[in-house]
Amino acid sequence: MQDELFAHPTPGFAATRKDALQQLDAFIPFAGRYARDRNHVLPGHTNVSKLSPAIRHRLILESECAAAPLRRYAASTVEKFIQEVYWRRYWKNWLSLRPQVWTDYLDELAVLQNDPSMEATRARAARCEAGQSPIAIMNHFSRELIATGYLHNHARMWFAGWWIHIERLPWQLGADFFLRHLLDGDPASNTLSWRWVAGLQTPGKTYLPRRSNLEKYLPGEVLEANHEGLEQLEHPQVLILPTEARSAITRPSLPPTPSLHDGCIGIWIHEEDLLVEQSPLASLHPKAILATRDTATWTRLRYPEIRTTWLLSAVDDAAKRASNAFGIEVEVSSDSSLIKALFHWASEHQLQQIAAMRPEIGPLHDQLDHLHAALSNAGIELIFFDRPEDLALRPLATGGFFSFWEKMQKPLEG
Ligand SMILES: Cc1cc2nc3c(=O)[nH]c(=O)nc-3n(C[C@H](O)[C@H](O)[C@H](O)COP(=O)(O)OP(=O)(O)OC[C@H]3O[C@@H](n4cnc5c(N)ncnc54)[C@H](O)[C@@H]3O)c2cc1C
Repeated sequence: MQDELFAHPTPGFAATRKDALQQLDAFIPFAGRYARDRNHVLPGHTNVSKLSPAIRHRLILESECAAAPLRRYAASTVEKFIQEVYWRRYWKNWLSLRPQVWTDYLDELAVLQNDPSMEATRARAARCEAGQSPIAIMNHFSRELIATGYLHNHARMWFAGWWIHIERLPWQLGADFFLRHLLDGDPASNTLSWRWVAGLQTPGKTYLPRRSNLEKYLPGEVLEANHEGLEQLEHPQVLILPTEARSAITRPSLPPTPSLHDGCIGIWIHEEDLLVEQSPLASLHPKAILATRDTATWTRLRYPEIRTTWLLSAVDDAAKRASNAFGIEVEVSSDSSLIKALFHWASEHQLQQIAAMRPEIGPLHDQLDHLHAALSNAGIELIFFDRPEDLALRPLATGGFFSFWEKMQKPLEG
């Protein structure tokens, strides 16, 4: 019984733009009740949009998700939903201003994953991931995550709070578990949310899961079927992690607008932005277009099949749409190495420039120095473009979300 509630009702997560737009449309009638209902973790998750994989990979844009409910409701009625949509942009911008937080996370994770003295911790984390912990409801969430690639936001908070403050496991191992399995796995939203639960993101603020809160927001039958160990959530104690030095803000300098050679330019579509036909790239006249599948990285990061299947569909969809929009055939690379794929394609078409949307901080961004160097050795220039609305919002994430939200009203109105 215990997993039946979540076994079927979670429908597929849109992996094409058409499906994502339909899913957004179907959610609009619920958007008016979102502020009241969103924290309840219900079978099928009908009170939230489940659009996160599509938004994360930009099958649809945040601006589209923000505009859609305004066609039916007053801004004040759907403000909560629109704010949540912009939490992702806030996190992305916050991290892009402090890239060191991402590299520190990767370094700390590498130690936890490889240091022989961490063997017992790794084994305990593996048992928790496999749903073999002493708390049945957390095992239920692990299984849901692995089976569906999704967890409701409240379940993510409970799980992370339990992992860090009750199981006392390193937050970086939990963040890695989520980042691998979530279809919406997002370096910024995930890393910074785990840091927030751990009390590192907003000093003095941590998140503790409490039995009374689970009882309020989960259906009774789910808790009844998963009651073992719930008493451990009655009086949880915060684990206080050492205070970190405040992360310095690094404002990324944008290179000057390049001069483009339309006759020998190619467009590269990657998984960080799957909507090139609605981007500054749309005004180019490319000689060739390549959509890449970064399967070497997906394998290195141990993405499960459910996630790679979603990504393959989404990249194929982006390739088809771009092909229609630009009127040329889009090649979908089957080369697992990104460098080889770009290099072979650029050589074959005698490209001098490759234009792409700028990847945000994360695994693709981490490869850029290497890519730039390899391509420029062959005389090929790699040029990145930004959406004007992203550029306008990027510098605003210097403080907390609500200060960002206040400041962003201006660029959005403008
Ligand atoms: C520990 C932890 C880890 C998380 N890891 C990720 C992650 O890897 N990727 C990810 O996309 N989100 C992450 N989130 C944020 C949030 O849980 C998901 O974005 C949300 O649950 C997605 O479901 P939905 O599309 O049904 O959201 P809805 O409630 O329908 O919200 C609409 C959209 O708003 C955005 N959004 C909503 N809540 C948040 C939030 N708290 N932070 C940032 N954006 C939000 C998403 O784009 C979402 O699709 C994490 C949260 C926690 C607590």
